[in-house]
Amino acid sequence: MSGARERLSFDARVRDALADPLLKVAIDRTTGNARTKRAAAMAAWPGFSSARELGRDIKDHVIAHLDHYLVQFERNARASGAQVHWALSGPEACDIVVAICRKAGARTVTRSKSMLGEEIGLPHALQEAAIERVETDLAEHIIQLAGDPPSHIIWPALHKTREQVAELFHAHHHDPGTLDSIEAMVASARRELRGRYLAADVGISGANFLIADTGAVCTVTNEGNAELTTTPPRVHIVTAGIEKLVPSCAHAMAMLRLLVRSATGAELTQYTTFHCGPKRAGDLDGPAEFHIVLIDGGRTRMLAEGLAEMLRCIRCGACLNHCVVYRQIGGHAYGSVYPGPMGSVLTPMLDGLPQSKDLPRACTLNGQCQEVCPVAIPLPTLLRGWRDRIWSTGLESVTVRQGFAVWRFLALHPALYRQASAMAVWMMAWFARGGWIARMPLAGGWTRYRDMPRPPRRPFIAQYRRRMPRP
Ligand code: SF4
Repeated sequence: MSGARERLSFDARVRDALADPLLKVAIDRTTGNARTKRAAAMAAWPGFSSARELGRDIKDHVIAHLDHYLVQFERNARASGAQVHWALSGPEACDIVVAICRKAGARTVTRSKSMLGEEIGLPHALQEAAIERVETDLAEHIIQLAGDPPSHIIWPALHKTREQVAELFHAHHHDPGTLDSIEAMVASARRELRGRYLAADVGISGANFLIADTGAVCTVTNEGNAELTTTPPRVHIVTAGIEKLVPSCAHAMAMLRLLVRSATGAELTQYTTFHCGPKRAGDLDGPAEFHIVLIDGGRTRMLAEGLAEMLRCIRCGACLNHCVVYRQIGGHAYGSVYPGPMGSVLTPMLDGLPQSKDLPRACTLNGQCQEVCPVAIPLPTLLRGWRDRIWSTGLESVTVRQGFAVWRFLALHPALYRQASAMAVWMMAWFARGGWIARMPLAGGWTRYRDMPRPPRRPFIAQYRRRMPRP
């Protein structure tokens, strides 16, 4: 996120996002497409709900036995020739990565997309260490050129329209060509990146799954950039959160079916690679050194603080695509690495509740996110949990507290409550024109962006009384 935008309040960032008509076009194009494709994939997969239960159970089992699987993974990864490093925090993980790069004499590193890398601040750490970073995922390449942070966990450049991407490529690519089609833009990026893959000293990737019984690391991409990032350089570094563990390859395949269909609606990604140790005698290619950095970064704290279910997350992005709030404001307005419903649960844990207390409240609790989540994370319940904590730790604003005090008083005095709601309905009706309220005192935050329907003349309680037969 650009520094200026980061310093804005959540409300200001949301206002900026809502005022940007191109952003809405970009969000609608990508999330609409994603929802359509996911719906088609699910319709063609009658086993989704049992696969989902299995996915949830696999993750819950691993999370309950993290100590066992972490040790098993480390033992098997070392046996395959990998060097395993442990990092308690993001800064510690960055220090480890930078130290490996320095030892390798690296001046340029290629990186395939990893949200964990963003979470721990790796791009910034590499910059501080004067190591050139080349993002190889097409969308990450776009936002690196634009100087933007990711706005979606699957499509980081979702906030850019294709016309804006063409402008960027014209400005930055050495040989952009005509750029009059998506294919031409992809070809331009390919020309730009090919040489960089071969010149890099170190390749850095994330991990979609860590396979405990073999010590292998599984990555999935649709562009093949993870393979080109991790194979030519002398050194491959994997950064992975400890929750990425699965017991075996069969479990990884069960999770993959859920991940890919939920993320893109495809049955399988174009490239699914299991990286297992460095190059061996007789191998045609592969890195001479293979490092895996296992990162806690607050994950064990999530276990301790009642957020274990969130550790099931496989970063598919379906909850973002279906979130009515995300689809209006996009990812940058959240002001954090992880946007949307999953981000609103994770960010208070990662950045602290006082800094991110607006996020759990930016939710209608309609439950769509939980419905589409392939590992059945109860996101609305977890968001309500954060709201409880906001209240119980005194972080709620005085205005909201006073509002609730008034509401509580009225709720405890039914006669007064009925009078007050009748008065509110009368006032709202007074401002309505043609069945809609376009402007009303104290409701500017709502009516600035959308009209409010005129309430029925009789409140719910009055209608209920009238329709229900008396005993
Ligand atoms: S919370 Fe569920 S739907 Fe959202 S990214 Fe994670 S796994 Fe996907």
